[in-house]
Amino acid sequence: MLGQMMSQPLLISSLLVHAERHHGDREVVSRRVEGDIHRYTYRDLSKRARQMANALAALGVGHGDRVGTLAWNGYRHVELYYGASGSGAVLHTLNPRLHPDQLVWIADDAQDKVMFFEISFLPLIEATAARFESVKHFVLMADRSHMPEETKIPNLICYEDLIEGASDDYDWPSFDENTASSLCYTSGTTGNPKGVLYSHRSTVLHCYGCALPDSTNLSARDVVLPVVPMFHVNAWGMAYAAPMVGAKLVLPGPALDGKSLHDLFENEGVTFSAGVPTVWQGLLGYVEEHGLGFSTMKRTVIGGSACPAAMLEVFEKKYGVNVLHGWGMTEMSPLGTVCALKAGQDALDIDEQLKVKALQGRAIYGVDMKITGEDGEELPWDGETTGELMVRGPWIMQSYFNRDEDPLVYDKAGNGWFPTGDVAAITPEGFMRITDRSKDVIKSGGEWIGSIDLENIAMGHPAVAMAACIAAPHPKWDERPLLVVMKKPGKEVTREEMLALFEGKVAKFWIPDDVVFTDEIPLGATGKMQKNKLREEFAGHVLPTV
Ligand code: AMP
Repeated sequence: MLGQMMSQPLLISSLLVHAERHHGDREVVSRRVEGDIHRYTYRDLSKRARQMANALAALGVGHGDRVGTLAWNGYRHVELYYGASGSGAVLHTLNPRLHPDQLVWIADDAQDKVMFFEISFLPLIEATAARFESVKHFVLMADRSHMPEETKIPNLICYEDLIEGASDDYDWPSFDENTASSLCYTSGTTGNPKGVLYSHRSTVLHCYGCALPDSTNLSARDVVLPVVPMFHVNAWGMAYAAPMVGAKLVLPGPALDGKSLHDLFENEGVTFSAGVPTVWQGLLGYVEEHGLGFSTMKRTVIGGSACPAAMLEVFEKKYGVNVLHGWGMTEMSPLGTVCALKAGQDALDIDEQLKVKALQGRAIYGVDMKITGEDGEELPWDGETTGELMVRGPWIMQSYFNRDEDPLVYDKAGNGWFPTGDVAAITPEGFMRITDRSKDVIKSGGEWIGSIDLENIAMGHPAVAMAACIAAPHPKWDERPLLVVMKKPGKEVTREEMLALFEGKVAKFWIPDDVVFTDEIPLGATGKMQKNKLREEFAGHVLPTV
């Protein structure tokens, strides 16, 4: 017997329809590439998204066609999120920090039909337009006064002209909720990036998951500022979740430096934010230096890479901001776990709470997880045993886009689990702790050493800006940990002081064999340390033998 409830499909357009109807006056505030602050409401956004849907149709964009964007977090980008996906096209957000050759490759792999881009990327598109073979139209996301007088880009269209010329009379179409909605490429460190193709259903379900109390706890009373870019896994769902709950949305544009962010936080009354540790480091540095604080910010999600314990402590103890450590990946839409305390844990003293909050967190409903050993057997949740982290759920990828020759990305044991490539332990209470990326694990005499714990300890030293622990070749143990340290400007610390930090905190054989100081630790396009580059750079490093 079937239930007798309406089977209305879960569609992205419904999020905006809801926001317009129930939160029409709520503001969307954007810092523009042009330099000024733009403000309008969900009502205005909805109207322009409908105009965009009509405009895309006029450009010949049909159901399933890919619409590329090279854009920051801003209202025009949100209009495309809804205008493209809502009309049945596929929004493809490209990461402008990638190398131009990679961007051309990705646009070709995706067969993007239109490319929207912001003024910041005009030189990039000028230099590469002829190589984007599938792209029929280039649209500059600006008004007429910012259009270049001369350009090599063929038939360059002005975004505001495009909107102005389109009617706002548009009924969002209804279709199968499993229809593709958006496409995002992983920033793989080796080989070409791979596309993850989200559906309307996966996106809307992820959005519900995102807003749950023990996830981000978003509500109509919140003011949300996603620092995480809209080109990196859909800003972790924020551009969908904010309209869903009626939160005010504040978008920082290209200005991600400490001062610009802090100004926006304070001027707009931001209560909730989300970003990677490297961005928070810049913000905290600015706030510390100028003796400032956060007068409205209550909580923030930090994820994308491990949140250093020292950062967690400053946010919580000094500024009273509740840090929610989160873990996820492009293939997971991205949210997998969030570290919200369980019953009773809020009675722990602050230092004990911080120990829990440093873990990557608990699976939110919709994500199932387990750790497995080399033979695929499930390993115990004892907080110590580590194994490969496997996940499954309705917003987790089944197979990569366009990879027919390599369809199998999950299901090693035939059970429908996606192998994340992360190595983790899980406590009996269900809190997961990432110890490493499997390709970054240091294998010393057959034992695994987790680089993230060592980096966390190193980052606790006040003179350390960033630290990476990598495997260095060793004649007896195969590999031993080598600590690479980037100091804060004007600060000093010695090799011996660094090594002394580890005494008593980790097993003796985990302590790095050596420390090297470097001017720069390379970061990838999404702000993660590129340890493969460091391994290449220090491949010839000779470890001391005693
Ligand atoms: P991406 O798909 O680019 O978002 O990268 C996903 C990967 O980032 C994960 O598989 C993890 O290796 C890493 N990652 C994400 N969040 C965390 C976290 N909180 N702690 C440690 N690693 C993380």
